Amino acid sequence: MSKRDYYEVLGVPRNASKEEIKKAYRKLARKYHPDVNPGDKNAEEKFKEIQEAYEVLSDDNLRARYDQFGHQGVNDEGGFGGFGDFGGFGGFGESTSGFGGFSDIFDIFFGDDFGIKNQRKKGPRRGRDLVTELELSFEEAAFGVKKDLKITRYEKCSSCDGKGAEPGTHPSPCSTCGGTGQIRITQKTPFGHFQSIRTCQQCGGEGTVILTPCSKCQGKGQVKKQRTIRVEVPPGVDDGTRLRMTSEGDCGTHGGPPGDLYVHVRVKPHPHFKRQGYDVIYELPLSFVKAAVGCEVKVPTLEGEVDLKIPEGTQPDTVFKIRGKGIPRLRGGSRGDQLVRVKLFTPTNLTEEQKEILREFDNTCGEFNYKVKDKGFFRRVKDAFMS
Ligand SMILES: [Zn+2]
Ligand SMILES: [Zn+2]
Repeated sequence: MSKRDYYEVLGVPRNASKEEIKKAYRKLARKYHPDVNPGDKNAEEKFKEIQEAYEVLSDDNLRARYDQFGHQGVNDEGGFGGFGDFGGFGGFGESTSGFGGFSDIFDIFFGDDFGIKNQRKKGPRRGRDLVTELELSFEEAAFGVKKDLKITRYEKCSSCDGKGAEPGTHPSPCSTCGGTGQIRITQKTPFGHFQSIRTCQQCGGEGTVILTPCSKCQGKGQVKKQRTIRVEVPPGVDDGTRLRMTSEGDCGTHGGPPGDLYVHVRVKPHPHFKRQGYDVIYELPLSFVKAAVGCEVKVPTLEGEVDLKIPEGTQPDTVFKIRGKGIPRLRGGSRGDQLVRVKLFTPTNLTEEQKEILREFDNTCGEFNYKVKDKGFFRRVKDAFMS
């Protein structure tokens, strides 16, 4: 069975906004709703099609998948055969069509402000989490640091203790809903009387109204505050590490707990060092002469210079390990190592005299000087120069 394109079903362009999709859906749903077209199989099919298209296109996730993969993308597990099983209306007047489970039948006919809302009084709500960024130097990230962060957050109004009423006054019971926070509404529709409960607009479901709002917070119960918060960055954090500071976010409402503050760590690149897990990589520039005859060099580490012995005959890209000079592990205990990789460089701007010395040196070289794994290597190099 071939399915029609969902956008075509709703008669909207592919780039339609959510609002346009909703509008188109409502218009069509009103027209084809089985309760409006009793016994009309065609209308019922059409309504199902519209409903299915809307379920997909109104959901950002499903819509994205549909855009990318078509019906396959959203239909792979038996598809949307399960319409009508959304759970009942719970005694708010049954629709006769068997589409009773449809979640926003009211929405179709009366729009957003007449949805079935059975919200309880507003309970405690946790405050919002906040996110801030912290830039650290390579060393600060390695060894940890204390930093002061400037943040703006909502805090409980101290004047009214978050209640929103001017000190000395008290909230009064809401006269519109009699203090219950809810209003019962009976609506006459083409298919019978519907009763619904909705949140009282007057008190926002609180059941009380504030007649004299707190002058400091204008009755909101919270105020915006600039704060400086000290964060203790543990040793070993890396670029992208997220630190959580419990309860340092926005304050909660109605007695809810505050949110958390998340600190995203950014680590500035270092001029000499790179990080690889808990190891520090350092590239040591070395002339081929020093690599050949061996030498002692000073190598920078995160804590000053250390001596490193380069044995004679050191090959390019050889890695020397300086134990315990890397980055402390976040969970404590040991440290990573510093890895020193030898970068050989070839001298440039040679004088005639230097060139002559090197040529003379080269003439004294034999295969025994080049202990490479591939025994034919030296011969091939020679051949390349001869030809
Ligand atoms: Zn206040
Ligand atoms: Zn009320």
